[in-house]
Amino acid sequence: MKGELKEWQEKLLGVMKGRRNRQLLYYLELCTRCGLCKDACHIYRATGRVEFVPSHRAEILRRLYRRYFSPLGRLIPSLYEARELDERALEDLYEAAYTCTGCRRCMVYCPFGIDITWLLGVEKAMLVAAGKVPEELAMLTDAAIEKGNSIDLYRDLLQEQIKGLEPELRERTGMPGASIPIGRKGARVLYVALAGAHSILPAAIIFNLAGEDWTLSMFESSNYGYFLGDTEKAARVAERIVSEAKALGVEEVVITECGHAYRVMKHLDEVWSKQKFPFRVSSIFEPFARYLKEGRIKVDPDRIAERVTYHDPCQLGRNGGIFEEPRAIIRAIARDFREMNPNREKNWCCGGGGGLVAQPDLEEFRAVTGRLKAEQIAATGAKIVATPCENCRLQLDLLNQRYHLGIQVSAVTDLLVQAAVVEKGQKKAAALG
Ligand code: SF4
Ligand code: SF4
Repeated sequence: MKGELKEWQEKLLGVMKGRRNRQLLYYLELCTRCGLCKDACHIYRATGRVEFVPSHRAEILRRLYRRYFSPLGRLIPSLYEARELDERALEDLYEAAYTCTGCRRCMVYCPFGIDITWLLGVEKAMLVAAGKVPEELAMLTDAAIEKGNSIDLYRDLLQEQIKGLEPELRERTGMPGASIPIGRKGARVLYVALAGAHSILPAAIIFNLAGEDWTLSMFESSNYGYFLGDTEKAARVAERIVSEAKALGVEEVVITECGHAYRVMKHLDEVWSKQKFPFRVSSIFEPFARYLKEGRIKVDPDRIAERVTYHDPCQLGRNGGIFEEPRAIIRAIARDFREMNPNREKNWCCGGGGGLVAQPDLEEFRAVTGRLKAEQIAATGAKIVATPCENCRLQLDLLNQRYHLGIQVSAVTDLLVQAAVVEKGQKKAAALG
């Protein structure tokens, strides 16, 4: 049978074979098609399309596996629901793998804990080998790797940008010596922001007010290689930060408000790169909640008068384990805080994860599949939705327009800065933006 296969088929089946382990067999064999995952998925709930039933997304992989790796499926494919690896199968794999937001809500509701996104990771690895991947995700991943290769070209640009931010930082903190150090050796904390001032200045205000010994990373935290499903490239993108942290000798790498970036650095990259980091990885909320608790920053809870709700980004909450620290901050700075229902590990995905917001042709799909999130927000009556993930914020902005929610979508750090009290001279750190 092997002799009948074309070279590209051999290559893709080689990828599947390389991923064959107990976890793969367990997931493929154990699914009883009970359908409990179907109602847990916002995409299926909004569209009713069978292709978007979580277990169905993995069904193509299961059938390919039977066709090429199970003795009975190889012998009598038609009897064992086995499927040929052809162009059509590749199309179906593409739709299954790259329209899932990776929220893993289906896993929470599956009686066997089957992680559909793990199976989709195998599908993505095959698609990567076939060169059949979303163009935008591939371009963004390659650009990040290229930046790591030519960092000297970017250093001057970043320094210029930071110089332009420091007068505002001093103004907002009332501290003439406030600064944004870049790549400072011996700093305790390395802060990894997103591209752009919006995630640098607010964090710099808090770090300076708290008297933290910190420095800013040369690199942005986002990692599109993760969404692409190319773990080799994703590890190369992450390695830029790991090498920088090691060279500076920091104790803690603090990841900005970005769900997938936190998950990659905290839970995935040590496995991908087969190393143990000599530093701790934290979400930005861990030090910030600690500063509040220790009284290193003071806040005025009366500055934010409107009702606030909080959207748990799937990669930070359900998949990253950070639930309480951002809530502790919001409770300290807003008197009227209302939880969404459900929340924490059962929170509905906003529909923007998995790299979907980076793909313009999926905008309508995202608007439709975000319906449950829009309803959840409307039910809180909140005027401000705080969420610590750029992808979520872009998606919630889209839902705000589409469903006429009349909300302000905000980063948690922006709200913290709005509420922060500058003690010397009691100068208010006014709202950003
Ligand atoms: S809930 Fe689990 S066992 Fe049931 S269909 Fe979904 S993945 Fe399969
Ligand atoms: S991970 Fe989320 S989007 Fe993907 S199939 Fe499961 S519930 Fe649906």
